[in-house]
Amino acid sequence: QDPSSASDSVAPVIRKKITSHVGFSNLPNQVRKKSVKDGFQLTVMVVGESGLGKTTLINTLFNSTIYMPREPLHPAQDRPKTVAIENIQADIEENGVQLRLNVVDTPGFGDFVNNSDSWTPILDTIEQRFDAYLTQENRVRRQKIADSRVHACLYFIQPTGHSLKQIDIDFMRRLHLKVNLIPVISKADTMNEEEIADFKERILSDLAFHDIRIFQAPVYEDEDEEGIAESEEITRAIPFAVVGSDRAVRTADGRIVRGRAYPWGVVEVDDPTHCDFGKLRQMLVRTNLEDLRTHTNQVLYEHWRTERLLSMGVTQDPSVFQEINPAERLREERVIHLAKLAKLEASMKDVFQEKVEIQERKLKQSEVELYARHKEMKDALNKQYEQLAQKKAQLENGTPDTRKRMFRG
Ligand code: GDP
Repeated sequence: QDPSSASDSVAPVIRKKITSHVGFSNLPNQVRKKSVKDGFQLTVMVVGESGLGKTTLINTLFNSTIYMPREPLHPAQDRPKTVAIENIQADIEENGVQLRLNVVDTPGFGDFVNNSDSWTPILDTIEQRFDAYLTQENRVRRQKIADSRVHACLYFIQPTGHSLKQIDIDFMRRLHLKVNLIPVISKADTMNEEEIADFKERILSDLAFHDIRIFQAPVYEDEDEEGIAESEEITRAIPFAVVGSDRAVRTADGRIVRGRAYPWGVVEVDDPTHCDFGKLRQMLVRTNLEDLRTHTNQVLYEHWRTERLLSMGVTQDPSVFQEINPAERLREERVIHLAKLAKLEASMKDVFQEKVEIQERKLKQSEVELYARHKEMKDALNKQYEQLAQKKAQLENGTPDTRKRMFRG
């Protein structure tokens, strides 16, 4: 089955086939070798106000025209009333390794007069995708599960240099437990180094103040020193200050690079001293691609599923969720159910047996009593009979005086 089919119910998919150099095929970590063999699948959502450079950045990240920039709306044109959800699918091949990339675009976010509910359709699509996965997991006869769950959400922050805006906080607060949030400061070429450092600090303190959790790359015990240093460098750069450009430009020293040309020089997308683009790409498609998928599956989806099952009245030990696969879980639920039935039946049998014994004891008791009464009556009758027989004999044998006395007596 086509892995994209679950998302088809959410929004139509545009498909592309691309050959480009992204960097996912030469992974630094041995753990990911299996994925290299099987190919990767990554679903990235992009959220941010229009004009912040989302299209450009996605095309720069995957080194291809994944999608075309949108024409700005003409003032006279009717504006859409809600945030739309659009899927673009690209199969990227690199050194014989496949990456199926799904980009979930959210045009319209933050573009309205009132943006207080801009996050709603986005939260809906994330939960619908979880739901589609759960439905397939619960099927008795399961084929390969189509997974349209969102693995990462690139949230674009306007390079204001101030602090986060209300819309940014509203969105991230609603979504941080549902998706791996990766905040990026867009168009970082509009700020100088110091401004970027201050802005990053303010953003991080805003996130901490609002208790918003962004994606944290895990630290592996078996990682070598170089790997640990690289991971720390990436983590320190969050929120990534990025520059996007799908154009090749010539530098002062004659090199052709991806960048943005200004009268005073060229900002190079791939130069780590100019911006964090390289670190973002490193995290997304190389170092942490598998971690994003794993965290989505084992933490975000499981958290959602537990809440969902609880809301449906099903209670389960959440610690069991992570270790057991759905078929195993069903089998275990059946075993527990049968054990409960057997226990109920056994206790009913005990109660029944006890009641029968009480009745038997009562019957026996009344039988004894009945027999005793019967014997008592019989003895009394026998005694009476003997007395009468005695009197009769005396009457027959006795004198008239005796008879008179007897009748008087
Ligand atoms: P979207 O509406 O968020 O998808 O934004 P686009 O990718 O269509 O970009 C909007 C405009 O910003 C275009 O003119 C881009 O050339 C420009 N742009 C994109 N990325 C950058 C960037 O990193 N720096 C600067 N200065 N401009 C950018």
